[in-house]
Amino acid sequence: MTQRPYNFSAGPAALPEAVLSQVAADMLNWQGSGMSVMEMSHRGKHFGEIHAQALADFRELMAVPPEFKVLFMQGGGLGENAIVPMNLSGGGVVDFVDSGIWSKKSAKEAAKYATVRVAAQTEGREGIPDAGAWKLSPDAAYVHICSNETINGLEFFDLPDLKALGCDAPLVADMSSHILTRQIDWSRVGLAFAGAQKNIGPAGLTIVVIREDLLDRALPICPSAFHYKTVAENDSMYNTPPTFAIYVAGLVFKWVKAQGGVAAMGALAQAKSDALYAAIDGSELYSNPIHVSCRSRMNVPFFLSDDALNASFLEGAQAAGLLQLKGHKSVGGMRASLYNAVPAAAVQALTQYMREFESRQG
Ligand SMILES: *Cc1c(COP(=O)(O)O)cnc(C)c1O
Repeated sequence: MTQRPYNFSAGPAALPEAVLSQVAADMLNWQGSGMSVMEMSHRGKHFGEIHAQALADFRELMAVPPEFKVLFMQGGGLGENAIVPMNLSGGGVVDFVDSGIWSKKSAKEAAKYATVRVAAQTEGREGIPDAGAWKLSPDAAYVHICSNETINGLEFFDLPDLKALGCDAPLVADMSSHILTRQIDWSRVGLAFAGAQKNIGPAGLTIVVIREDLLDRALPICPSAFHYKTVAENDSMYNTPPTFAIYVAGLVFKWVKAQGGVAAMGALAQAKSDALYAAIDGSELYSNPIHVSCRSRMNVPFFLSDDALNASFLEGAQAAGLLQLKGHKSVGGMRASLYNAVPAAAVQALTQYMREFESRQG
């Protein structure tokens, strides 16, 4: 088989080739069962094994402490924007850090259920304000951050220690686009969620990590299928879970373990993003507006000095086997997403293409 092109999609995103091959091999007959995973009862023995193993591997990879539940849900990141306030806000006050498009979307949705206050605001050009300077509400039910802004390309490398700041509210973090790339200090977290389609597997699965004491705070309007306590009590099988997505995610977890785990993924993410930012900063043509202290290792937006060149840049990239580099429509320019399944060679090929394209502009 000829080499597949490199895929820089922001999500749904590249999956490890070894995982895709395994999925293909298992497609008609999973481990002698005579069935595709898609055809199995979610309550049967085979899927039971797949589910339990995926859960155990995720907990191990992310070192999730025993006082947290891991839920396999549906609804994606946007679903959680409503599910979190329905479960945790009590209809009261919630604090948000506005750091870009995803946290803005989360705040807008939460405002349907709670009173939203903006504790801090940044576009990342001057870095992320120190948590000590956030205007936290004494009565906040929780504090929400998006710890990697997938569109704007800024990442919170330190989760705030709210307790040390005298704030008892739990931290809620949207980790959709950096999960499985660094260890988390869970003592600082009340709830984390991540849609699978960035760094975990196919779209359709959403992982929620929630401290047990937060399970039972839902508003009465919360649908049962999205009620964390109900989901937890039923081992994420209250309703039919996204079985195929869980199976593929499980293969990705095994693959991450075989690569050396989250620490190895983190080192790779650092090396890949360092190489791309160096190419951007070392050029006259390309730029990235985010302060070096919070530049995302996962999503690297960059802009050509003349927008008129965008179309030919993308056309040449496509021809060079570099796919899905077009920036999000709300910010324009380019964006290279460097999730775990994107190899270092992809970044090498991209930076080489960028240099060649720049030199052709004369
Ligand atoms: C992709 C993404 C989402 C949205 O996920 P959906 O599955 O489309 O709802 C939410 N938050 C962040 C940070 C994302 O990157």
